[in-house]
Amino acid sequence: MRILICADIEGVAGVTHPDQTREGHSEYERARRWMTREVNAAIRGAFDGGAVELLAADAHGGYRNLLADELDPRARLVSGKPRPLGMMGGLAAGFDGVMLVGFHARAGTRGVLAHTINSSAFARVWLNGRELGEAGLYGALAGELGAPVVFASGDDVFIAETRPLFPRAVFVETKQAMGRHAAVSLSPQAACEAIEAGARRAMAAAVRAEPLRLATPVSARLRTQTPAHADLFCQWPALARIDGDTLEFSAASAEHAVRMFNCLSAMAMTLR
Ligand SMILES: [Zn+2]
Repeated sequence: MRILICADIEGVAGVTHPDQTREGHSEYERARRWMTREVNAAIRGAFDGGAVELLAADAHGGYRNLLADELDPRARLVSGKPRPLGMMGGLAAGFDGVMLVGFHARAGTRGVLAHTINSSAFARVWLNGRELGEAGLYGALAGELGAPVVFASGDDVFIAETRPLFPRAVFVETKQAMGRHAAVSLSPQAACEAIEAGARRAMAAAVRAEPLRLATPVSARLRTQTPAHADLFCQWPALARIDGDTLEFSAASAEHAVRMFNCLSAMAMTLR
């Protein structure tokens, strides 16, 4: 089996504060090591369970967080941005599954560090009328390439909102959210043990998992964090403004919708 691991940091055990997710903070250097260890745990479990090829896609911030020299050498690292397919960089037709490690709940929920792509720009996102976070958006993108999500780890809020999208996937809870910046967390070591065991089970589940496929063209709706963001985004003729903070656009595929969101996220930097 060919598997892509897509790794974020907000759902990693022990991470509760933005300082732990941002370059330049002393705590970040420790948190990125925990992130790398959770990815290594997923790699070990996946190989044990029957994977023969593994890519680890760094998918947080600038996509340069995983410590390359500490990565399990049986996997290859996908890092850096911008790149095709964004968080799912490296995925292609022929992959048998995707594993989401360190993921977080969508914007507007009570999950730890919950957001969708860009916390300062996007308040809520829907595709074809269904509200989605990053797991759903990128799960749909992977689904178009035939790859089902077979494993996901993160906090309890993330799991509750994501399980209905990927009912055959194995979920591993790394922490219970007590607030945006608070959690009851497994230790990094305990989280890695749970992830390794879950990843092993996920390889068996992969055989029965179905890719998430959205009807096309995809109708995308977006609520912005401020009307100023909507003022900016509706300058792009592809977007129609519905009200002060709501925009809609049509995309040929989930991949195209995700690319639009990533472009809007980059545009939003001009308002900071
Ligand atoms: Zn992230």
